[in-house]
Amino acid sequence: MTIYFNGQQFKYELEGICKLFFPVVRFEHRFEEPVASEEHDYVLTCRDVQGENTHLSVTVCLDGEKTAREETIAPEISFGSLREYDQECERVLCVMLYRILEERLGVSPRWGILTGVRPVNIIQRERKAGKPDEEIRAGLHDRFLVSDEKLDLAFLTADTQEPMLKELKPDSFSLYIAIPFCVSRCSYCSFVSHAITSRKATDKIDEYVTLLCREIEKTAQVAKDEHLSLDTIYVGGGTPTALSAEQLKRVLDAVAAYFDVPHVREYTVEAGRADTITREKLMVIKEAGATRVSINPQTFEDAVLQKIGRKHTAQDVVDSYELAKECGFTMINMDLIAGLPGDTYEGFCRSLDRAVSLDPANITVHTLSIKRSADLFFETSMRDYVKSDMTGRMTAYAQKTLINAGYFPYYLYRQKNTVGNLENVGYAKKHTESLYNIYIMDEIQTILACGAGGVTKLVGLGTEPISRIFNYKYHFEYIDRFEEILSRKDRIYDICREGREQQSKRQLD
Ligand code: SF4
Repeated sequence: MTIYFNGQQFKYELEGICKLFFPVVRFEHRFEEPVASEEHDYVLTCRDVQGENTHLSVTVCLDGEKTAREETIAPEISFGSLREYDQECERVLCVMLYRILEERLGVSPRWGILTGVRPVNIIQRERKAGKPDEEIRAGLHDRFLVSDEKLDLAFLTADTQEPMLKELKPDSFSLYIAIPFCVSRCSYCSFVSHAITSRKATDKIDEYVTLLCREIEKTAQVAKDEHLSLDTIYVGGGTPTALSAEQLKRVLDAVAAYFDVPHVREYTVEAGRADTITREKLMVIKEAGATRVSINPQTFEDAVLQKIGRKHTAQDVVDSYELAKECGFTMINMDLIAGLPGDTYEGFCRSLDRAVSLDPANITVHTLSIKRSADLFFETSMRDYVKSDMTGRMTAYAQKTLINAGYFPYYLYRQKNTVGNLENVGYAKKHTESLYNIYIMDEIQTILACGAGGVTKLVGLGTEPISRIFNYKYHFEYIDRFEEILSRKDRIYDICREGREQQSKRQLD
C-alpha cells in the first residue's frame, strides 16, 4: 500500500491507523505531488490552507474503488500554538482515515485512533491535571473513537493501580534477572531465548550461571553505594525453570547472599512451562523466599499446544499448578494468549473458563502479534481474519468473564502489530497484583537488570527522565564479553552523579 502526502507529514500516525486494519501490509510513503493510480491500493491525505481555514481530506483506493472524506477546521491562529494546530490536523486526518477503512472493511478496531502503548497513562495524566472522569471519557470516546468496552477496561485498570502507584518510594528499585534459556522453542516466541538441546548448551548454561552470580554481586554493591533500596525481584526469561534445580539454586542463593530478600515486597520467579517444573525446583524457589510463580498454559487446547511447539499437554499444566499449590505457593499467575495459530474463538473461551475454574490469583491475557502468526501459520486471508475480529472477540470475552469472576485489570499495555493493536492485560484478585508488572510497564521505577538481554532503567536518577544501560542480548555474547557487562554497571555511578549535579545546579539557580 502506498501512502501519499500532500501538504503535511503525519507519516507514523497515518501508517498506524492503516496498520489497525492491515497489520502485515508494507507501506511506501510518497511526499511529492501524488500520482495515485487506481491500479494500486493507496491512501492520499491532503492539508490545504484555503483563505482563513484549513481544508483536510483523505482518499482511500482499495481494489480499484475510491472513498473520500473531507473536513474543514479553524485557522492556525485560533489554536494556542502551532503544535496544537498540527495535533488537531493529525487527529482529524486519522479520524477520517479510520472511518473510511471502518466502512470499507466492516470492522471497528476497539481502541479507535489511539495507537499508543499505554492508554491508562492518559487517564492518570488527565486525572492528575484535575479533569473529571466523565470529561476524560467523553474526550477519548468522541475525539479518539475509543469504544466503551475499552474505556471501561482502561478506567478500571487506572483505579486498581492507583493505591500501588502511591505506595512507590522514590529511591526504590526492582531487580530483574534474565535466564535466556528454554527446553525447546515455541513457534511464536519473540523472546531472546535459547533452546537447551545438547550437552554443549548445558555446559554454556553453567558458565552463564557463574557469571550471572558475579553480576548480581556487582549490582548489589552499586545499589548499596547509591543508597537504592530493593523493592521487588523478578526472575524471568526465557524460562528460569529450564535451569536444573542446582543451577537455579545457585542463582537464587546469590540473590539471597547479596540482597535484603526478607524485606522485599514481592519476589517472582517465572516457572513458565509445565515441562520444566518439578517439585525440587519449586522447593528451591520457595526456600529462596520467592512469593509468586507464574505457570503459563497459554492455551488449554492440546491441539493448539502441539501446533505452537509446546511439548506438554493441558493436563501437565494443571498438574504443575496443583504441585505449586502443594509446595505452598498461593500467588500463582497463569498466562493465556488470544489469537494463537490454530485456536478458535470457542477454544480460547474454553481455555479461559478452565483457567478461571483453577482459581489462580492472577490471569494475564496476551494477544499474539499477528505479524508473527501471519509469518508462521496464516491459513485464511488477512482481510477475512481482520473482518472476523476473532482476537478482539476473545479479549472481550476475557474482559467480561474475568471481571465477573472477581478479577480486576491491574496493568495494561497495547501490542504493536496486532489487529486493532489489541492489549495485554494482567487481571488479579484484589490484593494479589504484581507490583513489578505495574512499575515496569509504566516505567516509573528504576530497574537494575542482570543477565543477557537485561536492560537497566534508571528512572529519575540521571539528567534524563530515564537512562538505559543495555546488556548484551544473547547468552554467548554475555559470556564472551562479560567484563564489559560489569564495567557497564559502573555507568550507574556516573549517571547518578550527573543527576545529582544537575539537581544541585537547579537548586542554586
Ligand atoms: S516458553 Fe516462552 S520464552 Fe520459552 S520458547 Fe516458549 S515463548 Fe519463548
